[in-house]
Formats: sequence, structure tokens, C-alpha cells
Amino acid sequence: MVRAIVGANWGDEGKGKITDMLAAEADIVIRFQGGANAGHTIINDYGKFALHLLPSGSFNPHVVNMIGNGVALDIPELFKELDEIVRRGVPKPNLVISERAQVLMPYHILFDTYEEERLSDRKFGSTKSGIAPFYSDKYAKIGFQVWELLQDDGALMEKIKNVLEVKNLILEHVYHRPLIDAQELFQTLKGYADMVRPYVINSVEFMHKAIREGKNILLEGQLGSLKDPDFGIYPFTTSSHTVAGFGAVGAGIPPYEIKDIITVVKAYSSAVGAGAFVSEIFGDEADELRRRGGDGGEYGATTGRPRRMGWFDCVATRYGCMVQGTTQVAFTVLDVLGYLDEVPVCVGYEVDGAVTNEFPTTDKLNRAKPVLKTLPGWKSDIRGIKTYEGLPENCRNYIEFVEEQIGYPIKVVSNGPGREDIIFR
Ligand code: GDP
Repeated sequence: MVRAIVGANWGDEGKGKITDMLAAEADIVIRFQGGANAGHTIINDYGKFALHLLPSGSFNPHVVNMIGNGVALDIPELFKELDEIVRRGVPKPNLVISERAQVLMPYHILFDTYEEERLSDRKFGSTKSGIAPFYSDKYAKIGFQVWELLQDDGALMEKIKNVLEVKNLILEHVYHRPLIDAQELFQTLKGYADMVRPYVINSVEFMHKAIREGKNILLEGQLGSLKDPDFGIYPFTTSSHTVAGFGAVGAGIPPYEIKDIITVVKAYSSAVGAGAFVSEIFGDEADELRRRGGDGGEYGATTGRPRRMGWFDCVATRYGCMVQGTTQVAFTVLDVLGYLDEVPVCVGYEVDGAVTNEFPTTDKLNRAKPVLKTLPGWKSDIRGIKTYEGLPENCRNYIEFVEEQIGYPIKVVSNGPGREDIIFR
């Protein structure tokens, strides 16, 4: 059976923790999109880890962790992470890499950086991990699939020369930066080839066989619905699809095999990068939530940047769950809200004088004002509580209110960062 674990919001919902937990019963965990531009924080018996590319099943020795064909594969970053977790005492994960995954090139990172500099105050707030240039090249058909690194030298060099022709023109005339040397890039890619060679598989055959054998498979999403390039706050989105539907493409499996879509929803809002954020809060109110948020504050796992903060947004989350095709919701970081006397929730958007609960396109989103409702707080620490009935009444009321507003069943509640801080309803 295939399950997807995806985010309904702007990312950082706590997907890593839920995946790590479910990985205990999984045979295969797959990253199907994105690259090293976002981090999953995982806390388990080995310590606290920020994974960017390694699938979250990497701490479970019986799990096969796959880099699917939809991923932006940053090879040095992947192996840095692998070495780091092994150095910290984790048994070496069982890793496989799709031969059809594409390779994030050193110049993708450069182009990402140069373009943000060129845009100056119009910049996207990119993590400068090369993601937008990578996916642009993939769809412009000048990317490198993993198998291309493993072919004969002549063919690889020819491709490098073709691609550099245009890259170097842009470097020279648009960015006024040093050009890329073909021989140097060739040597870098040969080094990459040696690193990945032992892990490369025909992932399509592998996955179809695994499905035939009834394996438990987890698709691990990165970021969330509102960062999807089609459904999110375009153009302030990421460049690969964050919705579960893309899991079929990015992992190479039939769409009808995805039976369970666990959408991770955070009990308040946070976002990184630029773009509309209707329920955003500022000043002391935001600072306090940021400081208390997540595990040790709401700061980017990749960049360390302070995240933008806001109240729970029912409009964005209802939509975020809808575009995922949610079958159940995991509601996370609820423990953080225990300090509030009253908990504000965004229940509608006022756009041009009319209130709506439909998530609009970016133009209207930019004009939307939040319609807030306040619910009574529960004023207590709910960490350590193991049953739904054991939660304070106002806390349950908050969960049930959110559930009614978003229209999808909240079946899992996460009340702390650790593996054991979980309540099944
Ligand atoms: P992901 O990218 O969706 O995996 O999310 P991140 O790992 O970036 O952010 C989630 C943060 O919240 C991490 O620091 C987690 O350790 C933490 N976290 C996850 N679930 C909970 C929870 O229920 N309570 C608290 N306090 N922290 C949590």
C-alpha cells in the first residue's frame, strides 16, 4: 500500500516527524520532488537531525530510502548528509537513487544566487539551493539524468559542451560573471558519478515490483500545497509540485496506488520567503509565537532565517488539504499554543468587501484581509498527554473547530517534537 505524507500549508508543518514515525512500519520511503532546499527536522533516539535530501526513513535500518526521479539531486549535499548521520552513530541507511533522477549542477546554485542578486528588492527569497534553475533546465531539456553521468566520457563531454554554450553566454552577458570551464565540470561530474554509482537503480521496475509484492511505501513530500507552482501563491512558490498527485510521477508509480494521503497541518501558521500570507502577525505577538514555536523556535532548517508567523488559516488549510486529496489530517505543534489566553483563527478572507472561504489567485490574495475568530485557550502544557480524551476541553474544541472548518478528519494529533508525542484519535 502506498501512502503519501504531504503538507497543507507553506511547509515546515512537521512532515519529517510524521514520516519518521510511520517509517517504522514502512518498507520503502521515497522523496519524490524538491531538493535540498527545505529541511525536515527529526528527533529520535540518535539525536536531533535536519535532513534536506535523505528520505526520513534513514533512521530505520529495514527501510529502503529512495531518491525518486522527481527530485533535484544535489549529490555533494546528499553524501554530506549521509556521512553526517553515520558519523553520529546511525547505522548506514539503505539508499537507492533513481537512474532517472536529475542532477543538480554546481552552476544551478550559482544561477540561483546571481538571479536573486539581479532581482534585488524584487527577489523571491530563494534558499539559493539552485532549485528554480534546476527545474527550468529539466523542462528545457538541458538537464542531466543520473544515467548520463555513467555513460562514456565522450558522450558526457559532448553534452556538457552543448549545455555550457548557452550557460556561458548568460554568465557573460546577463550576470557578468566568470565562465564555466567544460573540463572542470567534466571532472566534477565524474566525481559525482563515482559517488552515486553503487546506489543507482531502475526505480520504475523496482517500484512496480514493490507494489506487486504488497510492500508498505511512503511518499515523503517537501514544502506544502501553498508552495506548489500551480496551486500555490505563484510566483512565490517552489519549482516542483508539492501535491500528492505528483508523487505518482516523481516516484514512478501508478496514480491509483496512492491509497492514503496524510496531510500534515500545523496548529498555527509559519512561512519562509516572500509572497502573500493573509493571517500573518507582526511585532511582539509574532516574536513570542516564533520563539515558542516548533522545537526551539521557528527558524529555517536550511537557512536559519526567522520564519514569518501567523494564526491558523482555515481558508488556506481547507484549500491546501483539498488540492492534496487528503484522506486524513495530522495536526501538529499543538502544544505550542498552550500559552495563549485566546487563540485567534482566520476563518475567512475579506476581498474587495466580500468575505469568502475560497482560496483565491495571487492578485486577490494580496488584497485579502483576514477575518478572525477567537477561541478560548487551554492555558496548559499538553505534552506528555497520550489520549485524545486526556486533552483539555478547550484544546479539543480547537481541534474540532478546525476540523469542521477545513472539512477533513483530523486523525492524528502531535503534541511535542519527539516520536512518542503523538495521539491517535
Ligand atoms: P517539515 O519540513 O514539515 O518536516 O517541518 P520542519 O521539520 O521544518 O519543522 C517542524 C518543526 O517542528 C521541527 O523543529 C520539529 O521538531 C517540530 N515539531 C514537529 N512536530 C511537533 C510538535 O507536535 N510539537 C512541537 N513543539 N514541535 C514539533
